[in-house]
Amino acid sequence: MKNCDVIVIGGGPGGYVAAIRCGQLGLITALVDEWLGADGKPALGGTCLNVGCIPSKALLDSSHHYHNLEHLLPAHGISIKGASMDIATMQSRKNKVVQTMNRGVAALLKKNKVEAYTGHGRLQAGNRVAIAIHGGGEEVVAAKNVIIASGSVPTDIPAATVDGRSIVDSAGALAFDEVPKRLGIIGAGVIGLELGSVWNRLGSEVVILEALTDFLAAADQQIAREALKVLTRQGLDIRLGARVTGAKATNKGVSVKYEGKEGAKALEVDRLVVAVGRRANTTDLVDAGLDLAMDNAGRVQVDDRCRTSIDGVYAIGDVVKGPMLAHKASEEGMAVAELIAGHAAHIDHRIVPWVIYTHPEIAWVGDTEQQLKDRGVAYRSGSFPYRALGRAHGSGETDGVVKILADAKNDEILGVHIFGAQASELITEAVTAMVFRASSEDLARTIHAHPSLSEAMHEAALAVDGRAIHI
Ligand code: FAD
Ligand code: AMP
Repeated sequence: MKNCDVIVIGGGPGGYVAAIRCGQLGLITALVDEWLGADGKPALGGTCLNVGCIPSKALLDSSHHYHNLEHLLPAHGISIKGASMDIATMQSRKNKVVQTMNRGVAALLKKNKVEAYTGHGRLQAGNRVAIAIHGGGEEVVAAKNVIIASGSVPTDIPAATVDGRSIVDSAGALAFDEVPKRLGIIGAGVIGLELGSVWNRLGSEVVILEALTDFLAAADQQIAREALKVLTRQGLDIRLGARVTGAKATNKGVSVKYEGKEGAKALEVDRLVVAVGRRANTTDLVDAGLDLAMDNAGRVQVDDRCRTSIDGVYAIGDVVKGPMLAHKASEEGMAVAELIAGHAAHIDHRIVPWVIYTHPEIAWVGDTEQQLKDRGVAYRSGSFPYRALGRAHGSGETDGVVKILADAKNDEILGVHIFGAQASELITEAVTAMVFRASSEDLARTIHAHPSLSEAMHEAALAVDGRAIHI
């Protein structure tokens, strides 16, 4: 039996980052991950790298370039006749991007002296992890500390059973080898909107069925309304208040039944994507009889320092409470490594940025206007539209708005909401400002480069005090 200071179960952005930081801190560290690539080789990086953040952004970029040929470039005087999209090339590029990153994670673990096992890890009593090695054999590693980072898997619903052919989950929709003529998507969440955008830009007629009547209920509703208008104009047919009650694969495609605002409805599509959220992955994670407390959503229960009910066992990322986001998982991973090494660490779960990589992008951090109203917090709001920015006109990206919410008493920034080009980059200014507990006046007095999209942030901060210049 091997002994080490730390063993990490799971090699996604939570687990591999935790392992690297443990290695940097001089802890003897091992990591076990069970993901295999299409070639049967270890594919470190978890959901995010293999079937999540990275491949989805690769396809979003490819489809965006293609879409721009027709919708953006002609206005610049560029016309390309007979342009076409080769789906096989797009997919093989995406696969290469993923494989390059898989190799990068393996190299980083090696550089930091983390011993990586490929197989399934199961927690046993006494903080031991039994590893069923892929290809045969079992090894037991005893560790002073265990970090569970087993991530999440797609939620399935009885109304639409994934068959991997006509009815697929998000991983299936990242791997289509042709553009479906009619594509149905269940769920207008982050994943549904991103995948819907990819295939819509490549020519699919996309219908997204969403049970809730509010669009992006977790986002600021003013921003959500703005986004809905633009995404609809792009061709996404987003039907709100539409709960899918059944889906059946036929020889022509998929027959979908749903309850809409006007009663029972039917929809025929060629392929259907089930994108109704994700659930914690705790499959065969702990030995029977081991008392690892779970919360009522089936996640590993943790306190604010990611400590589980078992001494020396931590859990991070999608398998615990909080938003299912890669950077949240990584941040928890780094914090736990510091705690294990005896250092202070603090995770501010209030300030986690969200991004939806539609075009334009949607990004936010902190409270929405509806949350502040619900809590009875007095606030001031400042907004600034992209159409008033010189840089946005120059690039032809005039859809969008930045909105800043600040405490009415002390002007501290409580939330920032962006719908617009480069929102994923712009939001970091807001995150930094909030980490330093900046006021909207601090941002208003910060010089922003001209011409740049970041001027919308500056002007929105000025607008909180009613002194925006260009509107
Ligand atoms: P995971 O990435 O799920 O990794 C867990 C790993 O542990 C996996 O490799 C799994 O095989 C392994 N494992 C599980 N159990 C065991 C076991 N018992 N033994 C051995 N190995 C085990 N987030 C963002 O922040 N930005 C995005 O743009 C974004 N886009 C996304 C797009 C899609 C289509 C999807 C599906 C998700 C996206 N996410 C995005 C979410 C992001 O992928 C997750 O939040 C993130 O991967 C969580 O990291 P994790 O380390 O907790 O778990
Ligand atoms: P997310 O959790 O952000 O991935 O979003 C998933 C979305 O799927 C949520 O907005 C849910 O309301 C939606 N959803 C879940 N079940 C159904 C269903 N049966 N029909 C339509 N939408 C659904």
